[in-house]
Amino acid sequence: MGGKAPGTRISRAAVIGSGVMGAGIAAHLANAGISVLLLDIPPAKLTEQEERAGKTLQDPAVRNRLAAASIARITTQQPAALYDAAFASRITAGNLEDDLAKLTDVEWIVEAVVERLDIKQNVFARIEPWLGAETLVSTNTSGLSASAMAEGRGEKFRKHFAVTHFFNPPRHMKLVELVAGPDTEPVVMARLSAICERQLGKGVVIAKDTPNFIANRIGTYGMMTTFAAMKQFGLNVDEVDALTGPAMGRPKTATFRMLDLVGLDTLLHVVDNVRERSEDSEDQQAFVRPPELEALVARGWIGEKAGSGFYRKI
Ligand code: NAD
Repeated sequence: MGGKAPGTRISRAAVIGSGVMGAGIAAHLANAGISVLLLDIPPAKLTEQEERAGKTLQDPAVRNRLAAASIARITTQQPAALYDAAFASRITAGNLEDDLAKLTDVEWIVEAVVERLDIKQNVFARIEPWLGAETLVSTNTSGLSASAMAEGRGEKFRKHFAVTHFFNPPRHMKLVELVAGPDTEPVVMARLSAICERQLGKGVVIAKDTPNFIANRIGTYGMMTTFAAMKQFGLNVDEVDALTGPAMGRPKTATFRMLDLVGLDTLLHVVDNVRERSEDSEDQQAFVRPPELEALVARGWIGEKAGSGFYRKI
């Protein structure tokens, strides 16, 4: 790239959505020396504890509660040895209403909110007015259409927008899938690729804007086949994990433990996405919501983030 091109190393980023992936991506960026503004929605109601303490929904600590709780989790629950001493001081909590103006100052915004096109489109519309001339914007979607996400946005947004799909957990998983939107400039792809590879230590694969891209397309298909085989052979959760884990030379997180880590609500969105977007009739048959999964989600047992999923966290 020419000498005048914006840098391929950055020092200020924002991550929007402080859930499983947003928190993990923020931690990974902070550990690479990047200052991170972590934003989430302000909560719609007080917790019992906040009510007892006489807080209101206007209190800054309440408004930033979701992002702040994620920062507390990543700084207290992760082994300190994985992070440098100044790691925690590089992440700041904020919310998507009060702190949008702070986005003018960052070089890269990574969106990691819930896997729903309407919600992501709404987030992009809200951040668009605050983008600097060269701000990179990427989404961590598992497989929604980059074109659909860019729809309705102006030229600056569309030129600087792409998919950077990190895998869970972001610190440990090497792969990032990079997918161009309809108008992403080549220099933007080059910058995102360089940041992910050189600054974040990832291996970047360029994928096309197809449902679930590459790795998830294969992974979720395997998951759907496992659900079907489980029913066909009358297996239970432990048996499937035993058979698909170390017995096959794979980690013990191979199937249901891994789904608990991913989040069962997120998996349902991903399954719906492929079924709704793919024109292939085989996909439409394979990507049907497994009733066992729907039942768990209906009870709020959506995986590790809720304390229960296929397994209960003790
Ligand atoms: P999550 O459920 O843990 O977190 C979602 C976040 O979105 C929460 O912080 C929530 O407060 C926020 N949110 C909810 N409604 C919102 C709204 N209306 N506006 C703005 N924010 C809102 O989900 P996650 O697992 O972190 O997934 C985030 C993204 O990363 C999704 O696109 C998902 O497909 C993708 N992804 C997930 C995994 C995984 O293993 N979980 C892996 C790769 C990619």
